[in-house]
Amino acid sequence: MPETLLSDANQRLEKALRYVTMDPDVAARLHYPKASLIVSIPVRMDNGTLRVFQGYRVRYDDSRGPTKGGVRYHPSVTLDEVQSLAFWMTFKCAVLNLPFGGAKGGITLNPKELSKFELERLTRGYVDAIADFIGPDIDIPAPDVYTNAMVMGWMMDQYSIIRRQITPAVVTGKPVTMGGSLGRETATAMGAFFVMQTAMQRLGQNPANTTVAVQGFGNAGSIIAELLSKAGYRVVAVSDSKGGVYAKKGLDIPSIRRFKEASRGLKAVYCEGSVCNIVEHDVITNEELLELDVDVLVPAALENQITKDNADRIRARYIFEVANGPVTSDADEILNRKGIQVFPDILTNAGGVTVSYFEWVQNRSGSYWPLEKVNRKLEQSMNAETDHIWAIAQELSVDLRTAAYIHALNRLGEAISARGTREFYLT
Ligand code: GLU
Repeated sequence: MPETLLSDANQRLEKALRYVTMDPDVAARLHYPKASLIVSIPVRMDNGTLRVFQGYRVRYDDSRGPTKGGVRYHPSVTLDEVQSLAFWMTFKCAVLNLPFGGAKGGITLNPKELSKFELERLTRGYVDAIADFIGPDIDIPAPDVYTNAMVMGWMMDQYSIIRRQITPAVVTGKPVTMGGSLGRETATAMGAFFVMQTAMQRLGQNPANTTVAVQGFGNAGSIIAELLSKAGYRVVAVSDSKGGVYAKKGLDIPSIRRFKEASRGLKAVYCEGSVCNIVEHDVITNEELLELDVDVLVPAALENQITKDNADRIRARYIFEVANGPVTSDADEILNRKGIQVFPDILTNAGGVTVSYFEWVQNRSGSYWPLEKVNRKLEQSMNAETDHIWAIAQELSVDLRTAAYIHALNRLGEAISARGTREFYLT
């Protein structure tokens, strides 16, 4: 694997650039993040001591509009990770034709070790530190790994205190009573579900004969598992950070979700809980889940799960990347050789940011949409862009990821070139 996550991400750009005629200025611009902010956040802990946390916000490219992207709270957050996540957001927003550039933020910590009071103080401290870097027309944060609507509500509240005016459009993924959109919480999974339904139709694959393994049981993973099982797919394996369960006959996902919510861990589901008795199952590790002999694999946890070290052992026929960056670029080559089709993150998980865009529009217009309208518009967007990318892949005989990058690059290229290119200045 290349030295940094960002250089790995850039390899996808390099590959797509081979298929498009693009002014060299575009590539030159897109290889570097526009601005990266590193902040220290002092937080008074419940026991009276002071801890200082490291936070980041990266605005990668704003040629298509204000930058957009989530904020994650995780021990593995680094500047390199946040920069590559911001890079992916840039391409994701372009794939969905949203009037946004890409950004990302993060704080390095294990949120499970903090009390709710500490988390609130940390979140408000983070907003204090980045307040001049964000704004409804500058950069708009949203939820990501281990952040949720409540955290977004604190962010919006703190920003409004700083600016001395209620500013709902500064953050998306807020609680509905604070200006959040209906359907935002389920949007990432819903979007992925629409991509999958379109793909399965095109591939002539019937849900009832399709086995699925889902890695990750957070907001995206648990909801997609439930949507798929309700649509008749056989979800045979799920996992969270502590491990997973496998049942050849299929798992009772709604019960597992209810149980996980009550117990706060999937572990309880298979170790102690009553759900154990609903269906016979084996306990498996996350690594084993990835290598199961299933039709569809849905990585919905973190990046770098399928690398050159395990790509050869992947047996799924299709991979739908609900997580950001779960497959590295060298693993891509191996999967392509094996004929495994990967539906890339910048399309598959773009439902979240698409409904974030709807939320931003609602905040700015002051008019709020019913759930049916949100989901209908999401479905239209996801299906249209899936079709577009499918057509590019067919026309140029490239894999779907390269097709998605080409699609995004065309839109980004137009926006960058519209400001003047070397061709304009030198001729
Ligand atoms: N964190 C989500 C993502 O990676 C959503 C970002 C957003 O809504 O701005 O796409």
